Amino acid sequence: MGVEHTLKNHRPRGGLLKNAIASNKRFDMSTLKLGLKLGCIADDFTGATDLANNLVRSGMRVVQTIGVPSAPLAADVHAVVVALKSRTIPAAEAIAQSLDALKWLQAQGAEQIYFKYCSTFDSTPEGNIGPVTEALMDALGTDFTIATPAFPDNGRTVFKGYLFAGNVLLNESGMQNHPLTPMTDANLVRVMQAQTQRKVGLIDYKTVAQGEAAIRERIATLRGEGVGVAVVDATSNDDLHLLGPALKDMPLLTAGSGVAIGLPANFGLKPSLQASQLPAASGLQAVVSGSCSLATNAQVAHFKNTGRPAMAIDPASLMNGQSDAVVQQVLAWTAPLLQDGPVLVYSTAEPEAVKAVQAQLGVAEAGALVEHALASVARGLVSLGVRQLVVAGGETSGACVQALAIAQLQIGPQIDPGVPWCHAPSGDGKGVHITLKSGNFGTEDFFSKAFDTLH
Ligand code: ADP
Repeated sequence: MGVEHTLKNHRPRGGLLKNAIASNKRFDMSTLKLGLKLGCIADDFTGATDLANNLVRSGMRVVQTIGVPSAPLAADVHAVVVALKSRTIPAAEAIAQSLDALKWLQAQGAEQIYFKYCSTFDSTPEGNIGPVTEALMDALGTDFTIATPAFPDNGRTVFKGYLFAGNVLLNESGMQNHPLTPMTDANLVRVMQAQTQRKVGLIDYKTVAQGEAAIRERIATLRGEGVGVAVVDATSNDDLHLLGPALKDMPLLTAGSGVAIGLPANFGLKPSLQASQLPAASGLQAVVSGSCSLATNAQVAHFKNTGRPAMAIDPASLMNGQSDAVVQQVLAWTAPLLQDGPVLVYSTAEPEAVKAVQAQLGVAEAGALVEHALASVARGLVSLGVRQLVVAGGETSGACVQALAIAQLQIGPQIDPGVPWCHAPSGDGKGVHITLKSGNFGTEDFFSKAFDTLH
């Protein structure tokens, strides 16, 4: 990776960065060589953003890629998060994709690998957390790693190996009824053991509370007992900060997004404004919303109440090949309004309306029809000059990112927990600022707050 300098290393030289931090001004990152430290593999798209957001907030500059890139990394960042969609695909495919991602990250010079999965440990006895973990261990030639989805600030705590979601055990949280990965046992040592060839052990809360030396000693003991994977307790974010230093030399970490908050310090990095710096925002502003969650319904209502223009797309109007015509009508309506400020295009509806449409079209068909139309609207808005785009809805975000042919996102400042602004480079050199909000995230004023945050 050539000569690497951390932000810290640069401070003594002329104090330029220090002054920039102090004055909160933009700093030309092109003069620094950060060097890739952490290579991350996430098993789904919004989980990748969640991890990237935590790393940025702890001081790393981060790029998220959509799938495994075919070209070398162009950006100079501390961490890359490769977003896969491997959570519920067959284990063999998840392994193949994860190993592809690993190979690419190693070729970019990543010093440590982080396999990110869901904070509710979404998996079955077939995988994919265990099999992917072991495949990565084999490829990295390492005999030990950790496994913990703990992120106490988000209500995910692990105590004596048992995972709690909020105040209840995982298997009482609703996750026991998940259609694809029902979690009927909260004991992660057992859950992990059922999908892992290697012996699984535990680093409990008492050890974690004693800090780095005690954790390292426990790791040595577990290794001596032939344990290959250790579940780690964490009941507060402080535990994750205590855990961080003990993970410094571990080639592979497997975790939810929480463990990330204790890692940047291992590379001499501290929270900084520079970590989340994006190019200056320009262009027109718009919101595309396909989420029908409670939170998004409230956000749409709030935006309309502020008097900003908003147009609803009725899914029934998209039937019989009318989608393209509807998209054109919507774009023709938005074009003159965009000059005066943000415009909202939405299919967001209350549960009864959604059920009625689903009964008429079928659940999958209704979803696909709406996603396709909103993705076309997003593409049309960008052609009209929109360069600041808010997208609401996880699946809707996936469809829009695909329609906009976005391959890479630089992660910027957080708008609300778990939702950062991102910047996607574009062929014309202008780029697009985009934020991808999954269903229930964000406060009621999220849409207007998002644009305020960017400026
Ligand atoms: P969330 O993050 O809230 O789950 P998603 O975008 O992931 O949001 O999922 C919402 C799904 O509902 C998408 O497939 C979307 O196309 C679909 N949808 C959006 N609006 C409607 C509607 N009015 N009727 C039926 N389905 C809709």
